[in-house]
Amino acid sequence: MRFDVITIFPEIFNAYLNESILKRAIEKKTIEVKIHNLRDFTRDKHRTVDDYPYGGGPGMVMKPEPFFASIESIKSDGIPRRTVMLSPQGKVFDQVMASSMAKSIHNLLFICGRYEAIDERVREELVDEEISIGDYVLTGGELPTLVIIDSIVRLIPGVLGDEHSMQEESFMWGILDYPHYTRPPEFRGTRVPDVLLSGNHKEISLWRRKEALRRTMLRRPDLFEKTDLSGEDYKLLSEIKEEEKNEPD
Ligand code: SAM
Repeated sequence: MRFDVITIFPEIFNAYLNESILKRAIEKKTIEVKIHNLRDFTRDKHRTVDDYPYGGGPGMVMKPEPFFASIESIKSDGIPRRTVMLSPQGKVFDQVMASSMAKSIHNLLFICGRYEAIDERVREELVDEEISIGDYVLTGGELPTLVIIDSIVRLIPGVLGDEHSMQEESFMWGILDYPHYTRPPEFRGTRVPDVLLSGNHKEISLWRRKEALRRTMLRRPDLFEKTDLSGEDYKLLSEIKEEEKNEPD
């Protein structure tokens, strides 16, 4: 899978792409990431990418010409790409979108905005999809692009060392992940739940499912609306409700 990114701050990407899982995915050529400096597609000596807004008002607007020039140049290699504009006004990104992007054959081209906005004609003419990473405003589209690339890449088969670590994560089955523990078995008076030390895999699996359901019920009950629960899950949930009733506040 190939990712192209258009930004005025290409350096932001180096540190993150040169570490850990993304670094390995690039080295193994599972993915290719190409960062393009928008200023390379300007034609004036100051390499200007922004201008004052028509109609007045605060902030600067990113000019259309460098975006058109950069996208036309990137796409001139004939490789099909889906163009994504990062924007707080876009569809909110989630694990379902990450998963469908990881499975799709599309290569992605990200447009990172800065300042007040990007000239609307870029969105109208060049953008296939507008994506937000949440209901808050950041100073630029670079962090959202990294968030999206990271979450897609770890879903590409073979990228994570242990495929199970992906299968059992939050949202993969529509609910949150269960609590995790490692050694020592007791730390500052708190013990790891006995069942995890029992070696009984069936019991461990049941405990994990129950605790994942408990976390989801207590923290993100909205997730149940979009998840198919089994009869066993409903039984566990009614046990959890009883247990929580008896929990001191
Ligand atoms: N004036 C814009 C608005 O109110 O919708 C916000 C512009 S923001 C300061 C500058 C750039 O940051 C945007 O063009 C976008 O690329 C990026 N950005 C900010 N928040 C974002 C979010 N939640 N998700 C995705 N991109 C975001």
